[in-house]
Amino acid sequence: MKLEIDQVTKAYGTTRALDRFTASALHTQGLCLIGPSGGGKSTLLRVLAGLTLPDSGDVAIDGRRLPYESEATLRKRRRQFGVVFQSYNLFPHLSARDNITLPLRKVFGKANEESDAIADHWLDRLDMRQHAERKPSALSGGQRQRIAVARAIAVEPEALLMDEPTSALDPEMTVEILELIRDLTQSHGIAFVLATHELRFARAVGDQVWFIANGQNVESGPMKTAFDQPQTPQLQRFLEKLSAF
Ligand code: ADP
Ligand code: MG
Repeated sequence: MKLEIDQVTKAYGTTRALDRFTASALHTQGLCLIGPSGGGKSTLLRVLAGLTLPDSGDVAIDGRRLPYESEATLRKRRRQFGVVFQSYNLFPHLSARDNITLPLRKVFGKANEESDAIADHWLDRLDMRQHAERKPSALSGGQRQRIAVARAIAVEPEALLMDEPTSALDPEMTVEILELIRDLTQSHGIAFVLATHELRFARAVGDQVWFIANGQNVESGPMKTAFDQPQTPQLQRFLEKLSAF
């Protein structure tokens, strides 16, 4: 996957969530976004996903510029990604299976039978088949997040965009979801962009990292280089602080 982001600004009132953000990753299978809270990671993911329109600047994915002309072209663009957010955002009134089949039917126009078959495949794969009929409220946090991952991946996205997918989970569930993400991205070769505070995990699964603070790209590069030889005092301090305990 090739990502090129040029001078992207997105402001909320007087807050610049992204401030002339510029970064690129020319060949990446796993890009991790790290940095302090409020730095702009979620906003950047939403811009990549086509869910948030920047005020200015350009975004190109695999050489194709994000179209901002119309809702219709944006909607088409959104189909290329599977998105997993921090707090599941499953439909509460639908069963686990129907949460997975809904986008397959409504967005991709697949027939009910095919959608069910795809959902069952992923429910099996994620060891959730026995919970297929449950509503999200009857699932644990980790199980809900597994359904969210299944839903994102069932549409065979070009890339998976994940925003702190484990930050609402307890430690055991966190490990479970991290293992799942590692398996899926490594064994299925799915490209991903992941915002996370799990630095050891980022290092294990990602090949590139962008360290984002104050809406800007403070430091970016290959994962190993950034972690072993951080060039900026900001990234040095951040890594020291997060590995203190
Ligand atoms: P991160 O994900 O790194 O914590 P965010 O992208 O969520 O950072 O936020 C960047 C900045 O933009 C923060 O100051 C945040 O408060 C602000 N912000 C993000 N989304 C909104 C919004 N919808 N409305 C107002 N301010 C927002
Ligand atoms: Mg965030």
